Amino acid sequence: QDSIETYDNDLAQMLNEEQARQEAHVELIASENYTSVRVMQAQGGQLTNKYAEGYPGKRYYGGCEAVDKVEALAIERACKLFGACYANVQPHSGAQANAAVFMAMVQPGDTILGMSLAHGGHLTHGAAPNFSGKYYNAVQYGLNPETGEIDYDEVDRLAREHRPKMIIAGFSAYSLIVDWARFRRIADEVGAIFFVDMAHIAGLVATGLYPSPLPFADVVTTTTHKTLRGPRGGLILSAKEDETLHKRLNGAVFPGQQGGPLMHVIAAKAVAFKEAMEPEFATYQQQVLDNAKAMASVFIERGYDVVSGGTEDHLFLVSLIRQGLTGKDADAALGRAHITVNKNSVPNDPQSPFVTSGLRIGTPAVTSRGFGVSECRELSGWICDILDAMAAGNASEDVEADVRDKVSSLCSRFPVYTQTQG
Ligand code: PLP
Repeated sequence: QDSIETYDNDLAQMLNEEQARQEAHVELIASENYTSVRVMQAQGGQLTNKYAEGYPGKRYYGGCEAVDKVEALAIERACKLFGACYANVQPHSGAQANAAVFMAMVQPGDTILGMSLAHGGHLTHGAAPNFSGKYYNAVQYGLNPETGEIDYDEVDRLAREHRPKMIIAGFSAYSLIVDWARFRRIADEVGAIFFVDMAHIAGLVATGLYPSPLPFADVVTTTTHKTLRGPRGGLILSAKEDETLHKRLNGAVFPGQQGGPLMHVIAAKAVAFKEAMEPEFATYQQQVLDNAKAMASVFIERGYDVVSGGTEDHLFLVSLIRQGLTGKDADAALGRAHITVNKNSVPNDPQSPFVTSGLRIGTPAVTSRGFGVSECRELSGWICDILDAMAAGNASEDVEADVRDKVSSLCSRFPVYTQTQG
């Protein structure tokens, strides 16, 4: 059969363009990473052809002998990696894993308490445009604007006032260690289910570098593609030996939310879970943390405000309120210098969520391509050079061009797909 190149040149060019971008640009989006070639091989294989509605040993389709073994292996590895006794590896994404948890644990109209999107929570934690905000009575907590820490007193107060059926912890943009035990105590005081979405920090949790929520939560979800460095997908876990709970969660994924599982993605998840148990993965995660700290400290040295005063995980938020810059403009200027970040709301942000006054910066992807502390410090300095020029009201084109050249030579020293194949 013809290759994509000879069969479909238009598409081939687009694929090549993205491949070139991933090699030549610096990737600082905190939720992105570069998977191993093995993970991509599993996803690109023949399991993509297989329908397997149901669960291992209990399928609605024939011919599932091999894929049953694949799914059972992925489940076994997920449980071992995270110290869980239950895992569902079928959710197509993090949002679908969360939808399944809602379906299993609460009824439409019930009150839920989650972290607001503007303060670092995820859409699926009760944001108004999402199913979680539309079909449930969503009450939202946020950060203490003085400390940048989750306002646990507010969580406590809102829980007592609204008596939520379920409390959600976890985040898309928060740089401190969450006090899972405190959340558990608050949930117990009001008789709420405690659900943690650890999508961002799963790789750190897997290696013991961020406290695990598993001993505290009734149910935990994660994506598999962020710090965990697997294929795009979702995962549900629990450390509670509760057959009824496990059955409810399985039923909410299939037939509740999804049809056939993506067996090729489940195979790739199994690869990623095995990789995450290797000693090199712990070394990698430690470097992710060291790099994030190094980058944040340069911003502070250069006079920028880092939300929460620094970072204890793989990401941090830079507030540009004092410089009078918007996240939207800063994101665009850095993009022109081939540095990819995302704009992000910060506490007390005067701008709309589309414009924002902040940047979210994360180190999982640059660490995968081999950057260490010195490269990360250098990179932070270049970002500050561009922001300084913008804040001074100067045209930043020359600085952007200079940084773009430096980024280009840095990236060529650290090719993505020779470093991470393992
Ligand atoms: N949960 C959290 C905390 C996230 O940050 C994200 C994605 O950014 C998701 C869930 C959703 O994952 P997905 O994009 O796979 O649906």
